Amino acid sequence: MDTKQHFSLWYFVGAALLMLAIQSFLSGPSQQLLAYSDFETLLQAGKVKEVTITDEKLSGTADLTGLKDSLNPALGQAPSAAELKNHDFVVARVPDANLVAELQAAKVKFSGRIENRGLSTLISWIAPALIFVLIWSLFMRRMGGGQMGSVMDVGKSRAKVYVQKKLDVTFADVEGIDEAKEELMEVVDFLKNPDRYRRLGGQIPKGVLIVGAPGTGKTLLAKAVAGEAKVPFLSLSGSEFVEMFVGVGAARVRDLFAQAEKLAPCIIFIDELDALGKARGVSGPTGNEEREQTLNQLLVQMDGFDMRSGILIMAATNRPEILDPALLRPGRFDRHVAIDPPDIKGREKILRLHAKRLTVGPDVDLAAVAAKTAGFVGADLANIVNEAALRAARTNKASVEMNDFDEAIDRVVAGLEKKNRVMNATEKDTVAHHEAGHALVAESRPTADKVTKISIIPRGIGALGFTRQLPTEDRYLLKYGELLDRLDVLLGGRVAEQLVYGEVSTGAQNDLQRATDLARHMVTQYGMSALLGPATLTNTGAQVLLSEMPAAMRGEYSERTAQSIDEEVRRLFGEAEQRVRTTLTDRRAELDALANALLQHETIERGALLELLSQVQGATRPSAPGTSTNAPRQVTAPIPA
Ligand code: ADP
Ligand code: ZN
Repeated sequence: MDTKQHFSLWYFVGAALLMLAIQSFLSGPSQQLLAYSDFETLLQAGKVKEVTITDEKLSGTADLTGLKDSLNPALGQAPSAAELKNHDFVVARVPDANLVAELQAAKVKFSGRIENRGLSTLISWIAPALIFVLIWSLFMRRMGGGQMGSVMDVGKSRAKVYVQKKLDVTFADVEGIDEAKEELMEVVDFLKNPDRYRRLGGQIPKGVLIVGAPGTGKTLLAKAVAGEAKVPFLSLSGSEFVEMFVGVGAARVRDLFAQAEKLAPCIIFIDELDALGKARGVSGPTGNEEREQTLNQLLVQMDGFDMRSGILIMAATNRPEILDPALLRPGRFDRHVAIDPPDIKGREKILRLHAKRLTVGPDVDLAAVAAKTAGFVGADLANIVNEAALRAARTNKASVEMNDFDEAIDRVVAGLEKKNRVMNATEKDTVAHHEAGHALVAESRPTADKVTKISIIPRGIGALGFTRQLPTEDRYLLKYGELLDRLDVLLGGRVAEQLVYGEVSTGAQNDLQRATDLARHMVTQYGMSALLGPATLTNTGAQVLLSEMPAAMRGEYSERTAQSIDEEVRRLFGEAEQRVRTTLTDRRAELDALANALLQHETIERGALLELLSQVQGATRPSAPGTSTNAPRQVTAPIPA
């Protein structure tokens, strides 16, 4: 059953219960219902004064004293409150040919009444039912069609479109990300002088996608564009589009564009575009329909207006790779502006910008703060400046001093780490040696990709640190030696832990998995084993389906071959481990220095890495490379950020 059917079922069950409740409430207390025999007794005793007769019942006034106890509620439909107001009793009618005669005999005033049953039934049952059905059909149309607006206008009222008519943010408020800034300055010009560009038949971009890590200033830049062009700024987050009900998101998109049309020229800014613009079919089967509808609606709206309407759409994401390619096609988000985390100069500029508001003491060296905050983005730096100011204020200082900044850095760093995971000192040390091991092996293998960044700041689940390597060129073919080098790099972390601690931690598990895959592939896919010869031993196409079964059972190779494969993999592993051990023992001084530097700086970029390595080499290895210096030495080399 889908959502709609579920909804309908519960809706009608609820409606029926509600109507029953209303009916029984309306029919009021059933106390005064009298048994026909009691009525007869009353009549014969001369206590009945007046009777009104309808098809179903008799009602009238009577002296009921002494009879209250025998009033029986179980005798049929209860009299309504209105009936009881004017009558003392109500009796369900029983076929009684003598009734009229008896009434006459008792000298009771009696009259008949034509009850308008049709109307009252209509009012009490059919009308409410009709209302329920009407409401239901409204729901259905809005849920299903996606063309009718949203469920009871939930979409409209809850979509938080922030409209800012006047922004005082300008490009002067954005520092340290100069390339992105320049690209967007051009966009401002489009908004300000659209005719100049159109005159020559040029097509003004409709959509600009800003790509960058959280806190790098994407929103700030978009606002600055609006502020510079002096146009209204409508912003909405991609995750707010996607709601529980199918069709709501699409309705919001329409609302957004309808609003924008009224305000044009203006900028629509969609934060977290990836939340709604994920490639169709990427995420499992849940919640897809709604997101796809919303995405489609966005595409339709983007195609539906032209730049003459003066609407520019900007969007931000930190995961451009998962966006639906349809979003990036010409006429949609075809302009891409990338924002990188600021470098040391940029960080200093950002710090200066935010520190302008503060009274800063003479000992404050913002360049030094910038040097200590490698990897920090604009939002982190703004945060540091604010923290420092708060700290100085707390202690009633006349100005913000350098130690306030130092404390603030520690605090922000701690906060950033806590977001993911806090590591204790030993864990940190282990991770530092592990990553240093990867990096050092990568640097000592001629064909391995160059290390661009080493970090021991935990990111996401499972990764406690990372060593990022950048291939120097696109590779389509890898030689045997190159694969061996890769294997070495993968094992570098684990072997480093072994060397330093004499044991390995669970942190190396992912490396081991990847190394095993690589070694197996070398043996079974690439025919790189002398023992097994140049043959491909598994059917790569069927691997996914059959991987549950042992290879031998799949009938691809014999049990003996399987054994040989295992042997070969083990041999590749053993040899690689030996090579790595030699390398790292050889370069133990560098390993320790690098690990220490990592503990101190948490991230190390390539430049700093090379400098550090050459420093240590200069200090400890004046002889030719390759000379084994087996004695581990603790070297701490200061490195610039
Ligand atoms: P994003 O949208 O990329 O997550 P924001 O634009 O929301 O980041 O940035 C948050 C805050 O951080 C901004 O309001 C600003 O105070 C500060 N900030 C970020 N980047 C910069 C920058 N390049 N220059 C100055 N301040 C910045
Ligand atoms: Zn590792």
